Amino acid sequence: MSFSKRISDIAEKADRDLQEVFRVIDRISEYNTSRVLTEFKNSKVSDSLFAGTTGYGYDDKGRDVLDRIFAKLFGAESAFVRHNIVSGTHALTIALFGLLRPGDIMLSVTGKPYDTLDGVIGSSDGNGSLKDYGIEYRETDVLTEKGIDCSGLAEKISSLSERLKVVYIQRSRGYLSRKTLSTDDLAALIKNIRSVTDAFIVVDNCYGEFVDTCEPTQYGADLAVGSLIKNPGGGLADSGGYIAGSARAVELASYRLTSVGAGCEVGASLGQNRNLYRGLFYAPHTVAQALKTAHFAAYVFSELGFETDPQPYERRYDIIQTVKLGSPEKLCAFCAGIQHGSPVDSFVTPVAWDMPGYKDQVIMAAGTFTQGASIELSADGPMRPPYTVFFQGGLTYESGKYCIMSAADELIRCT
Ligand SMILES: *Cc1c(COP(=O)(O)O)cnc(C)c1O
Repeated sequence: MSFSKRISDIAEKADRDLQEVFRVIDRISEYNTSRVLTEFKNSKVSDSLFAGTTGYGYDDKGRDVLDRIFAKLFGAESAFVRHNIVSGTHALTIALFGLLRPGDIMLSVTGKPYDTLDGVIGSSDGNGSLKDYGIEYRETDVLTEKGIDCSGLAEKISSLSERLKVVYIQRSRGYLSRKTLSTDDLAALIKNIRSVTDAFIVVDNCYGEFVDTCEPTQYGADLAVGSLIKNPGGGLADSGGYIAGSARAVELASYRLTSVGAGCEVGASLGQNRNLYRGLFYAPHTVAQALKTAHFAAYVFSELGFETDPQPYERRYDIIQTVKLGSPEKLCAFCAGIQHGSPVDSFVTPVAWDMPGYKDQVIMAAGTFTQGASIELSADGPMRPPYTVFFQGGLTYESGKYCIMSAADELIRCT
């Protein structure tokens, strides 16, 4: 595949101009890699841990050691990582149902949580949402254009009294047009909440892992929750999720994962341990590749005259990038370019469709080795003005760059 001269020239310039940004990303990746290697060493990781168990999975050493390594990396007392947590939403569901009881209140302080949690928090539809169990949901939003504004938060929290059990923070923007919490803002927010309540602080950590040198649990969050087909799986975990945090909160979540009493002590790893260890080993590096791809993309599309968020040189706190494309044709061309530049299913062209649960049609491009893995480069956007595409990932910077150039090329051909 060859690219037009215009795109090749911009790409060359991007590589040159982004060197300093890339150096910072490399330093974070080096630091996080050294943390991972230290924990592997301290835990004496060896081949025997990859063997796996069947049945109940009692004494699955590989599983138990990986749990401890995650806990250490997250600066947490305890953690569990499981290949059979099917998604980030599932991991968050385990956490919330583990902590909340009838009559309790959950307060989100970062506005509306990620869409897939709508049904979990719920309406009274009898499907078993938190609401069905008599758990109340409240929402407030500390996010502003310039960072966080915690004024009024203390009063809000004390007005909810002892019934407030969970304070919920979503770190990443997800698919909203808000900003992602910076590491400093996240730390300040957790400190602020902790100073006024003993309620559990739960952080949706999806897309945030290893982007910086610290995780929310190191700042005092009770739980950090995420998916292994995003950052911490390193592009090698076939599926899974994790929960890390304080001993009591993780224990309560583990009783929801399996059964009360058994918790983390059961669950056969079925030969998945090797991929989870290898994925964690790669994760800091893979996240760095995705971040470089995001900066590169922002640079290229800014040069082409499109509005990007974050901007090319802006510091990242998750791996998501958006570009405002402005027309349905451009959105389709962009997604087609991503698909055609992918390692898998490069021969197909995505079309917009009526996806269940969405008001507008949605177009999606994903040529991934692991189905739906968003640490691999994938893109999607709703077919409505301003025709913004959301994308993230890139297993290697080289392939991410190639894929972005493919999207840029198809885009300029349709303008
Ligand atoms: C992806 C994501 C989720 C849900 O994860 P799934 O694996 O898609 O279920 C939740 N919150 C945020 C911020 C996410 O990015």
